[in-house]
Amino acid sequence: MKVLKFGGTSVGSAQRMKDVAKLITSSRNIVVLSAMSGTTNSLVEISDYLYKKNPDGASEIINKLAIKYYEHAEELYSTAEYKQRAKELIAHHFDYIRTFTKDLFTLFEEKVVLAQGELISTGMMNLYLNESGVNSVLLPALDYMRTDKNAEPDPAYIKEKLKNLLQEHSDADLYITQGYICRNAYGEIDNLQRGGSDYTASLIGAAIHAEEIQIWTDIDGMHNNDPRFVEKTSPVRHLHFEEAAELAYFGAKILHPTCILPAKLNNIPVRLLNTMQPDAPGTLISNSTEKGKIKAVAAKDNITAIKIKSGRMLLATGFLRKVFEIFENYQTPIDMVTTSEVGVSCTIDNRKRLDEIVDDLKKYGTVTVDDDMVIVCVVGDLEWDNVGFEASIVNALKDIPVRMISYGGSNYNVSLLIKSGDKKRALQALSDHLFQN
Ligand code: ASP
Ligand code: MG
Repeated sequence: MKVLKFGGTSVGSAQRMKDVAKLITSSRNIVVLSAMSGTTNSLVEISDYLYKKNPDGASEIINKLAIKYYEHAEELYSTAEYKQRAKELIAHHFDYIRTFTKDLFTLFEEKVVLAQGELISTGMMNLYLNESGVNSVLLPALDYMRTDKNAEPDPAYIKEKLKNLLQEHSDADLYITQGYICRNAYGEIDNLQRGGSDYTASLIGAAIHAEEIQIWTDIDGMHNNDPRFVEKTSPVRHLHFEEAAELAYFGAKILHPTCILPAKLNNIPVRLLNTMQPDAPGTLISNSTEKGKIKAVAAKDNITAIKIKSGRMLLATGFLRKVFEIFENYQTPIDMVTTSEVGVSCTIDNRKRLDEIVDDLKKYGTVTVDDDMVIVCVVGDLEWDNVGFEASIVNALKDIPVRMISYGGSNYNVSLLIKSGDKKRALQALSDHLFQN
């Protein structure tokens, strides 16, 4: 059995839903769907109005969104019976969302509101398949997807519940389920964070030991550089799990970084495919590497670099601990670190507590902050005994000022910190030098 996940744009219109239906009906797989594109953002906006005790603002967006869904249903189904059933489904969910405009609104209610997008998209797709004569069955994610007290997925629970559900519906042609949504350790409706549908697919893949996890989007795989900034990028045919994880984390939007781990631990290949070009090979992510090959470049924006310089660091013990402890106290994760005998530079992407962090760091040395930086990350089989890759990377960037360079934390990545104004030039130079010949 395979797990196929389709994102918001793949189910974003009646036509796209019909296209997806054609791709999923050939065998008995589990299909994970996101909410229709834009829906989760609208639900976030609705929640925002409700937090601010503005039910009219919320109602306006609710009504607008509902109209979109009714139009969608009108176009998707061909029989009066199914149009009616879909309208009832949509009305049910929107009436439910409307009940929240009348009462106290907290984090709990927000999670319930956010869950409606995936509940509607899967319900509509399932109805469409049924109308087309496919015996598809809805597997309610709220019945098997669960997180524990640390808000981490609970694999044993997921495996057990999913097994039972699949057995219960063993005569189905196909299974449809919601991405993103789950219950938490207390049984409340929760979610796997924004973009979490990829994670759902991967957790299901791990739970059922799927033959493959397919992530369907509207681009033909992971590209070797960012096509929004660089000319002539091309899809990477094959990536190691670690390479894919680095790229996903450092800005390749096509795959959510959390998706990699369950697949990697259970050695289940992940394939990135394109709904617009279903026969294209896409990108295969697995446990094998291509010896010595540089695969791709990615960039992460809005990075702040912080340098702490102190004579006291020289030959001192515990200096780094004290520095890192400050970031920990303000719950700010560090991305990149470089050190010298007399100082350390770190980067963060969350500036919320920056002032407090800098204030505290001043106890230990002179502090400098550089804003608006970008981490450029070069990914591939970069084992330290492979020679030459550092030289190629640095050579490509010979005309660009580099604030930090980091290698050795992983065998799959070299990270460089540059000014955001140099990003386009740097990405292009890396593509030209690393991939063009
Ligand atoms: N619908 C959710 C979101 O927009 C989950 C997902 O699409 O992966 O974040
Ligand atoms: Mg996504």
